[in-house]
Amino acid sequence: MTTTDKDLFFDIHPDTYSQWAAQNGLPKYCLEQVSDWITKHHCLSFDDMTNISKKNRSILADRLRLNPFTSVTNQKASDGLATKYIFTLDSGVCIEAVALQERGYETLCVSSQAGCPVDCKFCLTGISGLKRNLTVSEIVGQLAIVLANNHHITHIVFMGMGEPLLNLKAVLPAMDWFQEPWGFHISRRHITVSTSGYEPGIDYLIKNNRYLNLAFSVGSAIPSIRETIMPIEKRYPITQLSLKLRQYSSQHNRKLTLEYTLLATVNDTDLCADQLIQLARFLNAKVNLINLNPHPMIPFEPVSHKHLMRFRQRLVMGGVQTTIRHPKGQDIVAACGQLQLTAVADTPISRQPK
Ligand code: SF4
Repeated sequence: MTTTDKDLFFDIHPDTYSQWAAQNGLPKYCLEQVSDWITKHHCLSFDDMTNISKKNRSILADRLRLNPFTSVTNQKASDGLATKYIFTLDSGVCIEAVALQERGYETLCVSSQAGCPVDCKFCLTGISGLKRNLTVSEIVGQLAIVLANNHHITHIVFMGMGEPLLNLKAVLPAMDWFQEPWGFHISRRHITVSTSGYEPGIDYLIKNNRYLNLAFSVGSAIPSIRETIMPIEKRYPITQLSLKLRQYSSQHNRKLTLEYTLLATVNDTDLCADQLIQLARFLNAKVNLINLNPHPMIPFEPVSHKHLMRFRQRLVMGGVQTTIRHPKGQDIVAACGQLQLTAVADTPISRQPK
């Protein structure tokens, strides 16, 4: 069997282990053992799964693929706190994830799409356009490989490449792998999904009563400014969207997070702060401020430290719980909004309208 003919392990849901095992002449518990080795012992090599008989390991290796990528490389930031992983897909396109070391815990920022069609003007991924949605295996594989490289991931954020709500078909089963006891068993409160405000996705979550720890990327709470930096505003206006977000957070009685990327002279005025306060109060949300990570291809500048503190102070005085996300991994272009779609081979990267 060639590598691409093999089934990808994370595409097989545990509910179907019996069926898959029977079709391949194996007992069901073999798949449970494989799952245990990967999710609890962070092992991705059949050879090392020593409680499985040699014969069964050989059948498994012949039929199953644990690593969905054709190659994986990584790069560590000079401060040692961020490691960027670059995964090559079968098509030759590369996607990225970043492991971020914090005090006492480690977060993995995962990608949900190869590129992104949403085109936020302050984000390098947006410049790349969309290549395709990632599969369940390609999303879960990012975590499995990083864990196998001796990271101790306790938190996950869907803030890498892509708009996760545009790929719920793969993101929701991947979330199950991340949080269920039969999977990696990471607390669902430690898994954050960041959205630019794709309203049909929020509608889906409401209708199906599906809880995700959502972070909403605001851009600006003023629609005329928002549409200049986040074209999605034209299609799903923030005035309408905020009603849906309020419905969603009250359905689950959980606080939303508003992500706010500060861009000098664009969304950093007192009026912008006051509108953000209004939005945060309406949604009973907290705010996470991110000063822009500058890049030659991004036509904006960050605000000064003094201005960042002043903006934060205004939000706090307005009664809004506010934190600042400090940049990590800038020297390896791994900071927030800096993940960029690349191709190993000569693969054209299309820019598609949303
Ligand atoms: S910020 Fe997120 S949604 Fe916007 S272009 Fe970048 S990856 Fe896509």
